[in-house]
Amino acid sequence: MRIGFGYDSHVFDEARPLKLGGVLIPDAPGLKGHSDADALIHAVIDAIYGAAALGDIGSHFPDTDPKWKGADSAELLRAAVADVHAAGFAVGNVDATVICERPKLRPHVESIRTRLAELMDVPVASVSVKGKTNEKMDDVGAGKGIVVHCVALLVEKGN
Ligand code: MG
Repeated sequence: MRIGFGYDSHVFDEARPLKLGGVLIPDAPGLKGHSDADALIHAVIDAIYGAAALGDIGSHFPDTDPKWKGADSAELLRAAVADVHAAGFAVGNVDATVICERPKLRPHVESIRTRLAELMDVPVASVSVKGKTNEKMDDVGAGKGIVVHCVALLVEKGN
């Protein structure tokens, strides 16, 4: 088994829609970024690439490449999962914590888990998503953006 850790942060951009874990979250400011700025998916991708020691999201999908401008992060996650499979691993489970003052994540947690499970082709029970605030501390606590931490376990195939 291999463990990996992923982290991502994006600042809010009121002009964009908010996508988290591949799910469109209504009535919330979006996030600034080269792709669709789905910070949750980006952290998941870094966790699974990290577990396989396959580099990071930036090395696979550089934000200097116009090809990834406005990219659907869901497709990047599918590609990352294919990469770890090609390296001989399957996704065991993923556990992510989303930190922001807004929006409230709880009403969206189940649809996000379902979507992430579908994108990674794993059971929903293997995907955990937790939301919390930063208790008004620092820039995240001031509501400037969203931070995500994620760990992932990969299982070597054939074992
Ligand atoms: Mg990102």
